Amino acid sequence: MKTKRTQVTLSVLVCLVTICMFAGAAPEKLKVLLIDGQNNHNWKSQTPILKPALEMCGRFTVDVSTTPAKKAPKADWDNWKPNFSKYDVILSNYNGQMWPESVCKDFEEYMKNGGGLALTHAADNAFGKWDEYNKMIGLGGWGGRNEKSGPYVYWNEGEIVRDMKPGGGGTHGAQREYTIETRQPNHPIMKGLPTSWMHTRDELYANLRGPGENMTILATGLSAKTKKHEPILLTITYGEGRVFHDVLGHADYSMKCVGFITTLQRGCEWAATGRVTIPVPENFPGPSKSVVLDPTE
Ligand code: ZN
Repeated sequence: MKTKRTQVTLSVLVCLVTICMFAGAAPEKLKVLLIDGQNNHNWKSQTPILKPALEMCGRFTVDVSTTPAKKAPKADWDNWKPNFSKYDVILSNYNGQMWPESVCKDFEEYMKNGGGLALTHAADNAFGKWDEYNKMIGLGGWGGRNEKSGPYVYWNEGEIVRDMKPGGGGTHGAQREYTIETRQPNHPIMKGLPTSWMHTRDELYANLRGPGENMTILATGLSAKTKKHEPILLTITYGEGRVFHDVLGHADYSMKCVGFITTLQRGCEWAATGRVTIPVPENFPGPSKSVVLDPTE
């Protein structure tokens, strides 16, 4: 009897110690691989913003993989072999020449098997002819995209419109501050965000088109050019993989918007894990005034 009681006491003690150990342990950081190296935008000024924008919340570590330059010899490309499977999420700010076939295949496998992808702005201009990439990103612009790429997709009075009319993909008006409207307030990335907020100076992409399969439009912006509520934040599922597509981020200053930084952090966490634990900061912008911060400071 006494022995039994001792055993029970011991078991309770072991449980308590275990609980204390785990309660004190910080969750393991998510590993991000940021891909840059070619872009019709100034990626060299954006990587130094994107990396600390993620790392500042304490949830991520970010490695950077820079592709060879535009006219680099083939040997340089042969040596560029990112090990996608080491990472929880790949963040692409790349818009340039096609990756080597073996890298494309590796990336498709990584995503099909449950990888995570986040992309910003001109990364949705990339790879117009790579079918699997276009399924991952849902919608894209330029890069030879037209009605063969899929419908134009936009928001109209609570409905998603999928318009198959012929024409090129991608346009934008002059840079300005503009309002972003939440369309899926219960999605983990959007939960707790205001229904609308003012984004800092940026381009507003419009007339994006693509397969648009397994895609959710989280937020939209009203284009001065098309007069339509154009998709701004999107999620897509691809095989077992998750994608966070962020249309924002024309320049380094656009990426300093607290709304951009917060949704990028939460979008990357969701792409990596399917959950969001990163809180919405108190200085998240409201509908009338944009809020910026410099993550390098
Ligand atoms: Zn741009």
